[in-house]
Amino acid sequence: MIKQISIVLANYCPHCVPFSVSNAEKMANDLGVSLRILDIKDSEQERVADRLIEEYGDWSEDYLIPQVFIEYEDDRVNHLLTGFSESVLATKAAWKALFSSRYYRKLLYQQTGLIQNSIKTFVNRYLRFNGRCRIHCDKLTSLVELWSDSKIFTGAYVCPNGYASRVLCFSTEPDIKWFKNFLTNQVGEEMVKDHDLRVATRHGWELESDLVTEIRSLSPTDVINVLYWTTYPQTEEERRRGMFLCSDPQKGKGCKKLFVQEIMSTNRLCPKCR
Ligand SMILES: [Zn+2]
Ligand SMILES: [Zn+2]
Repeated sequence: MIKQISIVLANYCPHCVPFSVSNAEKMANDLGVSLRILDIKDSEQERVADRLIEEYGDWSEDYLIPQVFIEYEDDRVNHLLTGFSESVLATKAAWKALFSSRYYRKLLYQQTGLIQNSIKTFVNRYLRFNGRCRIHCDKLTSLVELWSDSKIFTGAYVCPNGYASRVLCFSTEPDIKWFKNFLTNQVGEEMVKDHDLRVATRHGWELESDLVTEIRSLSPTDVINVLYWTTYPQTEEERRRGMFLCSDPQKGKGCKKLFVQEIMSTNRLCPKCR
């Protein structure tokens, strides 16, 4: 885990102030850590800066500034960026390139993606919608979690009577095989057909506010992939059965797994839980 960002600078330096400081601040904010500013015109801060640069940075007696470091909780230090002696514009461009780099996205992902910003939080905030049950009744459906970890969130849109109209799997990389296996384990091989599985890519810009940055902090691929499983019954027999979520809110029972039964049945629990 990253502990803090440090920037070595001088207030008179046009490579440092204001844009390098504000970029370092942005970076610390993105990563949820503090920014340490080491001004080489302050003798005490200069001593710390000298040590940092001598050990981890681009050292020379009259070294270039700014220099930026990432400091980890386990005392590792990575040098990140040194100002471009050639021109201020080049230093500006370096920051810009850093923020749009794969390296930076990976940093964000490692630092915040797995901890604060789970896919589950993201889905709950931006990717849950109200729909209608339709095939089974005309009540509103809501997204109920089936399973999740830091990288995958699986849920079903379920009506108040427990009928599951579609199952979704959110992840940073689509894994149809995993999803199919997950579904098969719950409802059996016969129910899960390839032509009922679909995929969609969510970039962030198509959602209600601009979530591109947020998705980037969450996903090393820059997108959230959604796999949909919706069955479209074709035969009479298929039309008579439906998928239900095993849960009985009144009795507080149920294994929260999907099961198949007669579509008109009022059972809320799977055979195992009854
Ligand atoms: Zn329904
Ligand atoms: Zn059950």
